[in-house]
Amino acid sequence: MTLRALFFDKVDPNGPVHPVLLTACHVWTGGRMPAPFDYGSIYTGHRDGWKQTARTHRVAWFLATGEIPAMQVLHRCDNPPCVNVDHLFLGTHDDNMEDKRAKGRAVHRDRSNLGPKVPATGDRHGTHLYPELYRGERNGSARLTEADVIAIREAADVLYRDLAARYGITATAVGYIRRGETWQHVGGPREGSCDMPRPTKPRLTPAETFAAVLDLLPPEDRCGTRRNPERPYRWQALVRLAARLGVTPGMVHLTMREGATMDLMAHWRTTLGES
Ligand SMILES: [Zn+2]
Repeated sequence: MTLRALFFDKVDPNGPVHPVLLTACHVWTGGRMPAPFDYGSIYTGHRDGWKQTARTHRVAWFLATGEIPAMQVLHRCDNPPCVNVDHLFLGTHDDNMEDKRAKGRAVHRDRSNLGPKVPATGDRHGTHLYPELYRGERNGSARLTEADVIAIREAADVLYRDLAARYGITATAVGYIRRGETWQHVGGPREGSCDMPRPTKPRLTPAETFAAVLDLLPPEDRCGTRRNPERPYRWQALVRLAARLGVTPGMVHLTMREGATMDLMAHWRTTLGES
């Protein structure tokens, strides 16, 4: 008997009919690989004392084409013991897994529509999504109660270090609480937070500031340039003034353009008076 005859001796050509191809599976009736693989298995000899076997659908592919398939031999009919070459096709491992998923035979269903399988960090982290479960007193590391926090915020006349000692936290932590940077969800007065309106100081208009700064210049610096005698000061005069004020010339220039607070002008006058 030829190899081919030995092989097809164990094949039943009247298997289940493929619903689309309308041809019957040729079912291997010999040995099978254990479940869940169920491929037909055929002895091919011993090597190094180990029994060698081949999967029968691959053997069938070899017998039909004369080539040992370099890729996986896949079943159109999803019937592992089938060796009908018309029901076989070549593919990669990925093709096989995809085919398996598409046909609903995979152990794990297609999970690609269940969202990204990456750790939930940042905005998707539980502490962001459900802050009420983790904040404040419910945090395992919390040393204070919400009542403590409100008490700390209301004790405006007590030193940070005294509050720190009283509640067993650091003075820095007291500062964070007072400013509302920590325990943000708890009420009580906040200190120096950015949301609070800043007190507006009396301010000069740019024109008034310009006049006031010119007034600060010594008489010899109040003169125009050769090109523009109408100009009331020279750039060098501003540079000298800035040096005496301890600021940059650009700072003086900007102040004249934007308008200075009364406080700043008073400060500059005293600086010049003292120097
Ligand atoms: Zn088949």
